[in-house]
Amino acid sequence: MIVIMERRASPKQIEDVVARVEELGFRAHLSQGEERTIIGVIGDERPLATEALEVLDGVERVVPILQPFKLASRDFKPDNTVVKVNGLCLGGDEILVIAGPCAVESREQIFETAWAIKESGAKLLRGGAFKPRASPYSYQGMGLAGLELLAEVRETVGLPIVSEVMSPEDVEVMGPYVDVLQIGARNMQNYSLLQRVGTTSKPVLLKRGMMSSIQEWLMSAEYVLANRNYDVILCERGIRTFETATRNTLDINAIPVAKQLTHLPVIVDPSHATGKTSLVAAAAKAAIAAGADGLIVEVHPHPDRALSDGAQSLKPDAFFKLMGELRQIAAAVGRRM
Ligand code: PEP
Ligand code: MN
Repeated sequence: MIVIMERRASPKQIEDVVARVEELGFRAHLSQGEERTIIGVIGDERPLATEALEVLDGVERVVPILQPFKLASRDFKPDNTVVKVNGLCLGGDEILVIAGPCAVESREQIFETAWAIKESGAKLLRGGAFKPRASPYSYQGMGLAGLELLAEVRETVGLPIVSEVMSPEDVEVMGPYVDVLQIGARNMQNYSLLQRVGTTSKPVLLKRGMMSSIQEWLMSAEYVLANRNYDVILCERGIRTFETATRNTLDINAIPVAKQLTHLPVIVDPSHATGKTSLVAAAAKAAIAAGADGLIVEVHPHPDRALSDGAQSLKPDAFFKLMGELRQIAAAVGRRM
């Protein structure tokens, strides 16, 4: 349930409600809105009588959250969450584009890509050091050496880094090298991984599982929030359908649906959603038109030689062109880019 405080509730009254919630054996999560403070009361599924909190000073009303995701819901936090990454804001007026290769492959490859995407206006660099591949014989990523290259690129080129973490043990290892921890589609329901990233202070980019409903996706976000990491970025990356013409089917509906249900920023990955270079630009433009807060796009200087996902990677010149088109669409929907 949530405790909605009066507009003029004092910090002391808020503190007292939090203390009472904890005394009753529940956890209190604060949502400090522009208008008022809302306190999320989270516990196991034990019942709690609303009267226990309604009587406290400064409380306007106590209401149950009907959705199974509580902290992720708009009821708990009506205002959009803006996730801050090294001074950048994701989820506000500005649309941010993350770009880079599927995997870090070499010093030349990652540096060349980083300079190119920066020049085009991308604000963050992506690149996997640990790759979740469908085959154990496919390229698995450079591991720690890849992370070291990413940190070096960040230092030289000045772009924050987004990279996938595949296991709870790697969360700490990755800390010094990356700015945003990506949870891949295949790990969306890896609950021990979600809990572990929930205890860090790094923003989490949570991909939607390829066979997950929007509700399941938001429940995974809830795992991270419940552990008090409130900086979650949702990423729609296409789902599996009967269609075989594309690698996945971009669920455009998921953008407005998620934006209605949750305050968290929503971005789109048009590369994995389509699986084909020739379709990436159309999907990217549709995503911005539909209200996405950003994109994550695979760019490789030599897609024909890429060790993973070359077939869906844009060359730097195509990415440059796409960024110009996206700026026009962003302006048309009242966003900056
Ligand atoms: C990726 O971003 O390279 C990736 C593996 O994505 P997903 O988890 O969406 O398949
Ligand atoms: Mn990829």
